[in-house]
Amino acid sequence: MLHRLLIILSALPIILALCNCAAPRGTAEGPVILDIGHCVGAGGAVSPRAVNGQRVRELDWWYRYVYYTKQVIEQAGYKVLVTNRGERPETEPLRQWADRAEVQHQDEPDTGQRYPSDYFPDRVAGGMISADYAIGRRASCAVFLHHNSARGWRRRGASPSLIICNRYNGRNLASCLAGTLNREVLNHGMPNSGRECGISVRYVDATRAAGWMNACDDAGIPAAVVEAAFLNNRNHVSYLTRDATARRYAEAVGRGIVDYLRRYGNEPRHYRADTDCPDEGSFGYAAESRGLDVPGAENLWED
Ligand SMILES: [Zn+2]
Repeated sequence: MLHRLLIILSALPIILALCNCAAPRGTAEGPVILDIGHCVGAGGAVSPRAVNGQRVRELDWWYRYVYYTKQVIEQAGYKVLVTNRGERPETEPLRQWADRAEVQHQDEPDTGQRYPSDYFPDRVAGGMISADYAIGRRASCAVFLHHNSARGWRRRGASPSLIICNRYNGRNLASCLAGTLNREVLNHGMPNSGRECGISVRYVDATRAAGWMNACDDAGIPAAVVEAAFLNNRNHVSYLTRDATARRYAEAVGRGIVDYLRRYGNEPRHYRADTDCPDEGSFGYAAESRGLDVPGAENLWED
């Protein structure tokens, strides 16, 4: 008995090294993470004009409507956690919306600085805490809820709606999200001159959202950022400021996630094999990050 125990104990470091167990891994049984982008005090993009008497701000809009996204996923039988990196809002109606969606606040407001993942220290980005939250909970998938914006107020015409996703695990999630938005929302109530929602895979160091996408990817978690609605597009803002169509948008995101889970949720995941081996997503790859000193970050490209 003791002999057997000793064999198991002596093999443990090898087993741990082989399966790279240091970081938790995403699994099909894990919760869906819905992350409300930005935080109280730094609420993200805002529409330049009011439409239907309202201006839209990313943070406030998603606090209000994430509840409907969550409901659609829960009704399909999946567990959902809604999170936000910042502090719990203290003003109404935000506080009430946050309570309704049971938002888990991480009390780490955006500092504007880049910082490393707790699990994969060569993955560096501002807002990394959201990716680490998904990894810590072994998420089935993680969807980061945003709206996009460009310069100049657009009265008509198309905006380049897109879903950003990670390299190895995220493509099916992104195509289900884009597909659902294209069938139910874009050019179906939310005019976009026939232009459909695109998909953008992000993984190169220092590229927008690449840091979070990579950290999730390393842990085998499909991840996507929703950037389909543009706050400088009058037609998009009009859609987002009418309660019935706003709900329809939020629910379409939920249906896209359900479509993904049903079709692909049980497929094998890609896990990063060697976390000591740098790739294009490692901190220090991009010229922009080469000279930066980010406390706690690992630059695998050095030496
Ligand atoms: Zn945003």
